Amino acid sequence: MKFGTKAIHAGVEPDPSTGAIMTPIFQTSTYVQTSPGQHKGYEYSRSQNPTRHALEKSLAALENGKHGLCFSSGLGAIDAVIKLFSPGDEIISTNDLYGGSYRIFTKIFEKYGLKFHFVPMHDTKAIEEKISDKTKMLWVETPTNPMMNIIDIEASSRLAKKHKLVLAVDNTFSTPYLQNPLDLGADIVMHSVTKYIGGHSDVVMGALVVNDDSLQERLAFIQNSCGAVPGPQDCFLVLRGIKTLHIRMQRHSENGRKIAEYLNQHPKVGKVYWPGLPSHPNHEVAKKQMRDFGGMISFTLKGDKQEDAIKVLEKFKYFTLAESLGGVESLSGHPASMTHASIPKEDRDIAGLKDSLIRLSVGIEDAEDLIEDLKQAIG
Ligand SMILES: *Cc1c(COP(=O)(O)O)cnc(C)c1O
Repeated sequence: MKFGTKAIHAGVEPDPSTGAIMTPIFQTSTYVQTSPGQHKGYEYSRSQNPTRHALEKSLAALENGKHGLCFSSGLGAIDAVIKLFSPGDEIISTNDLYGGSYRIFTKIFEKYGLKFHFVPMHDTKAIEEKISDKTKMLWVETPTNPMMNIIDIEASSRLAKKHKLVLAVDNTFSTPYLQNPLDLGADIVMHSVTKYIGGHSDVVMGALVVNDDSLQERLAFIQNSCGAVPGPQDCFLVLRGIKTLHIRMQRHSENGRKIAEYLNQHPKVGKVYWPGLPSHPNHEVAKKQMRDFGGMISFTLKGDKQEDAIKVLEKFKYFTLAESLGGVESLSGHPASMTHASIPKEDRDIAGLKDSLIRLSVGIEDAEDLIEDLKQAIG
């Protein structure tokens, strides 16, 4: 089955009791048992819920994986992955990481004796240098946020296999439409479903997809034991969002290209970070592992003044200033003071995250209007 057909059909079946073509919202906490232990596979909605189950199957199919698990947020999903490990274990991740992931790693899990190393992972040698006998996992995010670096998933997987490490990939920016990490050798794919998969800025949710049965069992045990599960209404909304994921991603990528090219020739713009530009330092790796390049773009202004960036952000009409990304509407953000404020300035500088950096989540509006908006805001 091809992607678009999967987006519409995978995991969902007409409801057998009524013929309803759309998966019902099973808004129930518990399920009747005819005799103790006699039930239809559902006992309690933290453990299983039919609406969530349909969504988990759909997400697994989209990632070419065997098992999907949904969580109450992307960070809930990350939390479950880190709980696979024990005090003393070490995890290597990228130095240009989603701020919330950096925060849960350093501010929550370091307290429990886990150790995290942050290296520029687009340089495979930098990863290998940090691997020791305590290392248990590589946590990859690609493209990275907000610098849009591309990390080679196949090269990371070779390294992970050589040293017997788990390879987890945060695939939020790419979505399963643009990139399938399991096919490239990853063990765990993580999504903030809140972003492109939900796609309409109306749900907060996370997900994991894996192939390995024992990994699935351990993660499902954590999911049920810790309880960060999404409600059925949100699962329904995401199932609805998924039906247009391929169409939306095509338009996000098309608009992304037009806007990256526009910014790239603008005299007041410094650097443009979009993996589809041939000038992007990791463009060849991006071409190898992604089907297209999506709608996330970062750029700096010449002179690199924070106050210039703020003026541009205040002038936007369609690129609404807000945290988050991946919705049908275009959004803008200032990573240094918003999403990445929890990363110390010296670490931001090492990652190249400048004070004038503006991040765009290019929506699916008409590109002409979006370019007009950039024109009037940048001047
Ligand atoms: C938003 C985001 C997360 C966290 O997901 P939430 O749903 O907000 O908890 C993790 N990784 C990336 C890349 C994100 O953009």
